[in-house]
Amino acid sequence: MEELKRQRVFNLLKSDVSHLIGQKINVKGWVRTKRGNKNVNFIALNDGSIIHNIQIVVDVQAFNNDDLLKNVTTGSCISVDGLLVESQGQGQNIEIHASEIALYGSADPDKYPLQKKGHTLEFLREIAHLRPRTNTFGAIFRIRHALAFAIHKYFNDIGFYYLHTPIITGSDAEGAGAMFRVTTLDMQNPPRKEDGGIDYSEDFFGKETNLTVSGQLEGELGALALSNIYTFGPTFRAENSNTTRHLAEFWMIEPEMAFYDIKDNMDLAEDFLKYLIGYLLENCSDDLEFLQKMYDKELLDRLNFVVENKFERLSYTEAIEILLASGQQFEFPVSWGVDLQAEHERYLVEKHFKKPVILTNYPKEIKAFYMKINDDNKTVRAMDVLFPKIGEIIGGSQREENYDKLFGRIKEMGIHEEDVWWYLETRKYGTAPHSGFGLGFERLMLFVTGMGNIRDVIPFPRTPQNAEF
Ligand code: ATP
Ligand code: MN
Repeated sequence: MEELKRQRVFNLLKSDVSHLIGQKINVKGWVRTKRGNKNVNFIALNDGSIIHNIQIVVDVQAFNNDDLLKNVTTGSCISVDGLLVESQGQGQNIEIHASEIALYGSADPDKYPLQKKGHTLEFLREIAHLRPRTNTFGAIFRIRHALAFAIHKYFNDIGFYYLHTPIITGSDAEGAGAMFRVTTLDMQNPPRKEDGGIDYSEDFFGKETNLTVSGQLEGELGALALSNIYTFGPTFRAENSNTTRHLAEFWMIEPEMAFYDIKDNMDLAEDFLKYLIGYLLENCSDDLEFLQKMYDKELLDRLNFVVENKFERLSYTEAIEILLASGQQFEFPVSWGVDLQAEHERYLVEKHFKKPVILTNYPKEIKAFYMKINDDNKTVRAMDVLFPKIGEIIGGSQREENYDKLFGRIKEMGIHEEDVWWYLETRKYGTAPHSGFGLGFERLMLFVTGMGNIRDVIPFPRTPQNAEF
């Protein structure tokens, strides 16, 4: 085969290629379908750069090598040289009239798991190594990329610095969830202390270490020097909750801002979410339209609605009053002081306000030690952003910057001072009012794709009993 420059299908379908019409070009990709008769074959070729396929037209008679065409079946990978021409057929503007085809890899039609269309999402989860080749997961992973890119772009454009916080942590003060132990000790025969307990001083780091559940505490250290930072990294929670909204390994975005109060924090969260959704509406319309058609007829309406409407802001106390007056039967009964469950959050968002909601000023007993205490001494300056279909998508707060108050909370909650001494020092030296929040990347992915299960918005989900791929 002569060496022709490979064209990405994205470029062929999305840019002006009039100068290439009538020219010989090369495309490479995976065969989605092949149909036709003994004279002419039509191959729909996809290279993952875009949801659409490029049509390859093959004059069967001209291909003496029949064996080759026989092996060009669904799932096989080929390289095609041919003339780019304007298409006569319906459904596409251009197509390629093949002059040469090379087979990189066949896919036995009797065995290839994606030979037929219309598999369930449950089945596709069991073949996570192949599901990126479906239209659905191609769309989802392209959107995932665009969303990650938009997050960096948003923060970069407003002068926030990307801070890398550690994945292995020696502190478990965050209390956000059960942790995964990191160790190089011999599990069969670990070194023992005199009292029989495991002697972690002989472990790799000389102490107990775990995978992080959040980058926030370290993020605060960055904000109290660089003013505005954000983290964007993997977090790990060994929570044995098999829900459609929880992963054991998920990605979190945690901006942290010096000199921001709770109101500034809410403004940022709302602007951020609207920007991200707007970015996807502008840049991922083909993939979003596909997902809307296949899975969720209201997807685009819902995304546009979030961009166009102000989020409702109210206090936890007001929310409890609304829930109590609702006359709804909840599985978890409501009273002042309870932690809100997804059913409560969704009632507020979907039934009562019918738009995203930001709740503030939660009882201190149900929130973390670092949140700023209000003057009532009962509530803290927390803010949770609640979304339709998802419930909590963001959790954040203004942080306690007063050393004595923070120290008091640490004692009250039984956190060991020696675990957080470095955190406390930021309140001893040049403390400053500051705020931040955590956005679960996959929770936002659920919202923007309309998918129902968090396992379907990350390439290789980590959940209890599942780490095959
Ligand atoms: P939830 O009550 O839903 O378990 P949380 O209170 O544990 O959430 P935070 O500790 O505030 O959550 O974490 C910040 C954000 O991270 C949440 O708002 C959510 O978007 C996301 N998140 C939390 N736990 C998970 C998980 N196991 N899988 C995916 N995303 C998560
Ligand atoms: Mn949780």
